[in-house]
Amino acid sequence: MNRSVRVLNATYEYLGEVSADRAVVLIATGSAQSTEDVIPIFPVRSKHVEIPLPRTILLAEYVYVAHRVTVTDSSRATFTGIFDRDGRQCAYCAARATTIDHVQPRSRNGPNTWGNLVACCSSCNQRKADRTPAEAGMRLLWEPKAPRRIEKVQQKIWRELSRT
Ligand SMILES: [Zn+2]
Repeated sequence: MNRSVRVLNATYEYLGEVSADRAVVLIATGSAQSTEDVIPIFPVRSKHVEIPLPRTILLAEYVYVAHRVTVTDSSRATFTGIFDRDGRQCAYCAARATTIDHVQPRSRNGPNTWGNLVACCSSCNQRKADRTPAEAGMRLLWEPKAPRRIEKVQQKIWRELSRT
C-alpha cells in the first residue's frame, strides 16, 4: 500500500508526508491521531486491528522543527527544480522548454536563484542570448518566484479543518 498521509504538528502546522504504514504505526502507538475520525476513508487491516486510514494525521506532541528551510526568490535553485516549477514550459512562448534561461544574464552576474531562472525553449534562449528580456524585446509570461507548494498545502489544510 503506497498511499501517503499528511502529517500535522500538534499546532496543525504541515510537516510533510509519511507512508500509510508509518501513519498506522503512529496512530497505533498513540503518537498521532486522525483529524478525520468521523470519515473512514480507507480501512486498513493488520493482524490485530482494523482502523480507517486517514488522509491527515495530527501529532499528539509538538515536534520542534529546528531547521525549517525557508525558500525565497533569492534562494539558489536547481535546474530540475526550475523545470518542475515551470512545468517544462518556456517562460517566453509556452513551448516545450529544454533549456534554462538566466533572466538577468549570467555574464552580468545574474544568479542561479528561483527569481532569476526560468525554463526556456532553445529558440527563445538563442534569441535572447546575453540580453535582458527588455533588451531582447521579449516578455516573460510569468514572474519567476520561489515555489509555494508547502504554503499551498498548508492553506488547503486550514480550509479543510475549518469545514469540520
Ligand atoms: Zn520559447
